[in-house]
Amino acid sequence: MSFTGVIVLALLGVLASVGDAKAKVRVAATTGTLAAIAGDVGGELVEVTALSAPTEDPHYVDARPNLVLTLNHTDLLVATGLELEVGWLPNLQKSARNPEIGPGGRGYYEAHTALSHLAEVATGRVDRAQGDIHAGGNPHYLYDPRAGAEVAIGLGTKLAELDPANAATYVTRAQSVAAKYRSVGETQRARFAALSAEQRRVVSYHASWPYLLDWLALEQVETVEPKPGIAPSPAHVATVLQRMRATGAKAVLQEEFYPRGTSEKLSSLAGAKLVVVPGAVRFGTQTYPEFVGQIAEALHAALGG
Ligand SMILES: [Zn+2]
Repeated sequence: MSFTGVIVLALLGVLASVGDAKAKVRVAATTGTLAAIAGDVGGELVEVTALSAPTEDPHYVDARPNLVLTLNHTDLLVATGLELEVGWLPNLQKSARNPEIGPGGRGYYEAHTALSHLAEVATGRVDRAQGDIHAGGNPHYLYDPRAGAEVAIGLGTKLAELDPANAATYVTRAQSVAAKYRSVGETQRARFAALSAEQRRVVSYHASWPYLLDWLALEQVETVEPKPGIAPSPAHVATVLQRMRATGAKAVLQEEFYPRGTSEKLSSLAGAKLVVVPGAVRFGTQTYPEFVGQIAEALHAALGG
């Protein structure tokens, strides 16, 4: 090949990469965890933003005005769904002036639609007296990497639909990402299998853990919140303590954005350990497998395995 030919090819390469940069699919995810999974699946084909910090309670995110601007330029908005973000996301979607990412829009994706199994789907009538009830099912599914794997597959399909030129890449990547997540899940599950029945008993602060409990075969003895989103009364705290003593529960598990006072008191009175974990991936510095691994490690240490 001639020297000129080489230069022309190099220039074409530069142009192609500029073109790629422009064509990146702009993804906004409501949590750092969803952002991390979208980043794993999309790789260099996507540009991902997390709308909330891992230290924020995903039920009550501060809908800052700059998020409206982000959503105005977003091609794909990824949410947990199951009403987790019902207190803050609909307003942002309305203000964003981007119908694609509004409810029913092509660029709006609720990740729970990828799941084969939902915990705690309500039957019968639901009212607010039952607390912050998510009637469609418990929305805290990403604490289970098996659910994360299903979401990866679902996101692969969605990205393929939005960016058909790269469809095969998304689908292939999603499969390998899902396999990685599942294998992390299997490793931890095997470790927890060595614990005795007594060592498997935990108390939760919020009802955030049905999927994680199922993944690691743990048993929830009580929740500190009597109902999701309802602060514990002294009478309920006394009940939890009694149950902890009766069952020998070894750990109280909660996310870092919940108040710790009651959990601290309960764990010291019952001789259990308080396990405080992040509620979402620290997107950009941590991967999803590292995140679920971190929670499993902390729990395993507390349960005395
Ligand atoms: Zn919740």
